[in-house]
Amino acid sequence: MQNETIPQVENYKRFVGKETVERVQHKAGKLEDLHVAHVNSTYYGGGVAELLGALTLLMNDVGIKTGWRVIQGSPDYFSVTKKLHNALQGGEINLTPLKKRIYENVVYENTIRNHLDHDRVIIHDPQPLPMISHYEKRGPWIWRCHLDLTDPNQEVWEYLSQFINEYDAMIVSLEEYKQDIPVPQTHFMPALNPFSIKNRRLSGEEMDDRLDYYDIPTDLPIVTQVSRFDRWKDPEGVIEAFKMAQEEIDATLVLLGSIATDDPEGQKVYQSLLDSREERIIILAKEDTALVNALQTRSAVVLQKSIREGFGLTVTEAMWKGTPVIGGNVGGIKHQIQDGENGYLVSSHEEAAEKIVTLIEDPDLREEMGHKARESVRDGYLMIRLLEQYLDLLDNFETSYSYRE
Ligand code: UDP
Repeated sequence: MQNETIPQVENYKRFVGKETVERVQHKAGKLEDLHVAHVNSTYYGGGVAELLGALTLLMNDVGIKTGWRVIQGSPDYFSVTKKLHNALQGGEINLTPLKKRIYENVVYENTIRNHLDHDRVIIHDPQPLPMISHYEKRGPWIWRCHLDLTDPNQEVWEYLSQFINEYDAMIVSLEEYKQDIPVPQTHFMPALNPFSIKNRRLSGEEMDDRLDYYDIPTDLPIVTQVSRFDRWKDPEGVIEAFKMAQEEIDATLVLLGSIATDDPEGQKVYQSLLDSREERIIILAKEDTALVNALQTRSAVVLQKSIREGFGLTVTEAMWKGTPVIGGNVGGIKHQIQDGENGYLVSSHEEAAEKIVTLIEDPDLREEMGHKARESVRDGYLMIRLLEQYLDLLDNFETSYSYRE
């Protein structure tokens, strides 16, 4: 049975042309017998789950037997891993022996339940990182780190290095995130699935229906940020910038967030924002991908005012819908937005407010920037490009892989 939302490489012809699709199919043909596993720590909520959902299906579509394992953990494990996540992005941590024990024990329990004897194993982010220590490898293991590694906390980096250095390769999101380690590194920017409910064109009626359902008014221009409730996404800064802009324009702000199962801080951040709700400031914690689509499409402006951002798939998603994005001038956002061309990069609340006003007041500018934004996603950020990078990498290890002790 065919389903229109299941990614198929053939369908990319309409976006990238026949030649690219055939090149990718040819590369995949050479890897047909491979058995590959991806491992991460959540099925939904956040960019990694978003990527893996589409990528693993597309890899199967081109003939590579690809699985997706999600490790299980207790709340205290996820509390520790979120602290490691924060520290890798430059935050502080009190890295006690107890925290290390909780982290390593839960990972060990998961290795007992997961039999990873695949030809290639790709481990995503710090949560399952130490799994590598418990297997006799059958093939190369790759660590894919999606975080903003501009300035990792050194104590945490040193602690995690004992695991990282066991890997055969490491993938980061940007060239500048590469680290001084003995492991070969490459960088892959993430990409989106244009066929998912989140990213394909919805009808006007479908979008109205989602906005109505959540009582989101459409009488004024909408300004939106879609993000996990996480301090790195600066939701307070978004509210502050919007209030400054409100002194000059009328609009509605929507902050939509989901709370990922591997992010115990989400609930706290969400609760702390609720006092800021007003008639024109709507804060929603909902899991609704069609709503994400409707908001990214119907908003006059999308914000992604992050302080740190490994890549920022929400930026790509909004740009794909032809909506101009005002993004924090950090990490992956500054690679996606060409300031003043297909969006704006900002470094303060004041700048964000000023750009909100500029865009709300000028529909022609929004149209022009939005058009360029969509084209730049078509050129560089569709899932077929990421698939090809993975195929090249998977092919890049010797076929008869010799075990390392
Ligand atoms: N997302 C969502 N609903 C929400 C908030 C986020 O579906 O309420 C999705 C969003 O559309 C994107 C991903 O979660 O696909 C966030 O990825 P990004 O790279 O922007 O940030 P991360 O959460 O990985 O730090």
